[in-house]
Amino acid sequence: MRRSFKFVLRPTVKQAVMLTMMVEDHRQLYNAALEERRTAYTKRGVSIRYGEQSAQLKEIRADDVDGQGRWSFTSQQQTLRRLEKSFAAFFRRVRSGQKPGYPRFKGKGWFDTVTFVEGDGARWDSQPCHPSATFVRLHGIGHLRVHQHRPVTGRVKRIEVKREGSRWYVIVSCDDVPAAHLPVTGREVGLDVGVAHFATLSQPINGVTDACGHIANPRHRKAAREQLAAAQQAYARTRRGSKRRRKTAQKIGRLHRKVARQRTDHAHKAALALVRTCDVIVVEDLKIVNMVRRAAPRPNGDGTFAPNGGSAKTGLNDSITDAGWGVFLTILAYKAESAGRDVILVNPANTSRTCPKCGYVARENRKTQAEFVCVRCRYSANADVVGASNIKRAGLVLRDARAA
Ligand SMILES: [Zn+2]
Repeated sequence: MRRSFKFVLRPTVKQAVMLTMMVEDHRQLYNAALEERRTAYTKRGVSIRYGEQSAQLKEIRADDVDGQGRWSFTSQQQTLRRLEKSFAAFFRRVRSGQKPGYPRFKGKGWFDTVTFVEGDGARWDSQPCHPSATFVRLHGIGHLRVHQHRPVTGRVKRIEVKREGSRWYVIVSCDDVPAAHLPVTGREVGLDVGVAHFATLSQPINGVTDACGHIANPRHRKAAREQLAAAQQAYARTRRGSKRRRKTAQKIGRLHRKVARQRTDHAHKAALALVRTCDVIVVEDLKIVNMVRRAAPRPNGDGTFAPNGGSAKTGLNDSITDAGWGVFLTILAYKAESAGRDVILVNPANTSRTCPKCGYVARENRKTQAEFVCVRCRYSANADVVGASNIKRAGLVLRDARAA
């Protein structure tokens, strides 16, 4: 099993300066490689591939000993591969007739990650008994202190260094991470993600949900969202190129990262609680949910949003909510796999409209956002709990069909 672990880096002032230079040089390498591909294509109609660009690295480094020559050769290869990947994605979109979006030059602040191959330009130096004495050694920078707050298991394969605002992180990706199976609990649940509550289960679980089966939204979420919405509005009032505009954009970035951190923390806690208490967790397949979704938010790429038909705030809130589910389901899938639990994905069609008692399907069954009343048999219950029960049933049917 594969897994990654993310830790805060604690560089010295000098190391932080070096990290900034390293990321900047990688950004320029990326942009130069993109420029070469563009020119070759527009002037001569030829496509340049990763192999040809990688073959030039040796010369680039020799010509620029105090610049590009300072950094790890393999990490530079990874940056070129990253460009190769974005071209591959571009051609895939062209082939499938989607809006392609040619790979873009990365401006300052839009390139924040450098990837290393373990043992080649970077080494993970962890002391299992002394997590506080963990370092990562990076070519051209030296030993950087890592705040390792939990153990790393498996075989380290890749090491990423990432800048988020003014902080630095290291992300360690491992192969062969052993699964630690949890004892069987005999509990199977359906889970409905929502807006009013973070999620609702088909049945309440002591210590995981409230008495109705709801898992609450992260604390502070509302406050952070309101601050974000206010900052977005303030941004719209600033003039292009002004100092205030730049400051507001930085603030928006900070708030986005804060919301993202809260969301990830909360998702980890909720997923862990579920995996500990349930053998089978049935959820809606988000890929299908997204296809039937309403007015999609249209990000401008700088943390703001363009009009999308709905109100600007709706677009923003939806995008945060959607991202939250995606993050949560990814974390849940990971934790379930490492604990030997089952996560079943089901088609979300009609899960909120079907009567769990008589099976009658009608939009009118959903009386309000919160209340379900069956038009035929008058069965009534909390709408989210009904949704979760229907999800659970659909999942168990699917599982039995697969087993048969
Ligand atoms: Zn009914």
